[in-house]
Amino acid sequence: MKTCLVVDDSKVIRKVARHILETLDFQVDEAGDGREALERVTGAEQPDVILLDWNMPVMSGMEFLRALSTTDLPRRPKVVFCTTENSIGHIRAAISAGADEYVMKPFDRETLHSKMQIVGVA
Ligand SMILES: [Mg+2]
Repeated sequence: MKTCLVVDDSKVIRKVARHILETLDFQVDEAGDGREALERVTGAEQPDVILLDWNMPVMSGMEFLRALSTTDLPRRPKVVFCTTENSIGHIRAAISAGADEYVMKPFDRETLHSKMQIVGVA
């Protein structure tokens, strides 16, 4: 079973994402901000993929990506960046900071499924 870490400061969005991902046969874990996510990812087990929010308190999605790139994990998880900002600039910044793919909020099951396929985890 593939594992996905859902990183979002909104409990509602985490719940929605978890539900969708579980129907796609993912085992889901959650983090409320980038720092919590970083602790999780640098811990014992790395998820196969991270669904990462852009705007979060404590540590944002961009800050998390930058921090992740400085770690030397044996196997870096795929990162699907999540944003409401329909801006090519934000998307480019995320991709150049190490995101593998992006998804616009609000996302549905079909969209998330296809993004997971694109990064090779579904
Ligand atoms: Mg947010």
